Amino acid sequence: MLVTDRKTDYFEKRAGGTGTTIMEHIIDEKVYNGKIAAYARVILKPGCSLGYHKHEGTSETLYILSGTAEYNDNGTEMELFPGDVAFCPEGESHSIGNSAHSKSDLVVMALIVKKNKKSKIKHFRCFKIKSLVPAKSFLCATEVFIILF
Ligand code: MN
Repeated sequence: MLVTDRKTDYFEKRAGGTGTTIMEHIIDEKVYNGKIAAYARVILKPGCSLGYHKHEGTSETLYILSGTAEYNDNGTEMELFPGDVAFCPEGESHSIGNSAHSKSDLVVMALIVKKNKKSKIKHFRCFKIKSLVPAKSFLCATEVFIILF
C-alpha cells in the first residue's frame, strides 16, 4: 500500500527551542493503534532547535540523515553526524539543534513510541494480589478489570 496522504507540521519555538521545527510525518501514527506517537522526518534549518524536554510516557529514537546536530543528552552536550543514532528512553531528557553558523539543514528521522500502559497495570495487579487478604484481592482485581476495559 503506497502512502500518499502525508502531513507536515510546523512548530514555532518547539519545547522552548528557537525558530521552526518542521515535522514531515512518514505515516499517520493512527495506523499503529496508539502505540506510536510519531514517525517523522524532522528538519531544522540553521539556527533552529527543538528545546530541552523530558520524555514522559514515550521514548524517542533519532537517526541523523544529514547535517550536524548539537545534541544535549540529559545535560551532556555532543555533536551528532549522519548515521548516528540517539535514543532517549522514557523518563530521560534531550534537545537537538542546528547551529546558526551551519551551512546546511539538519535532517533527522524520529520515532516516538508510547509506553505500554497495559503491562504496567498487570504488574500493579500482581503486586496487590500478593499483598492483600483474599477478599480484598478480589475487589482489587475487579477494579483493575474496570481500568483495562
Ligand atoms: Mn524528544
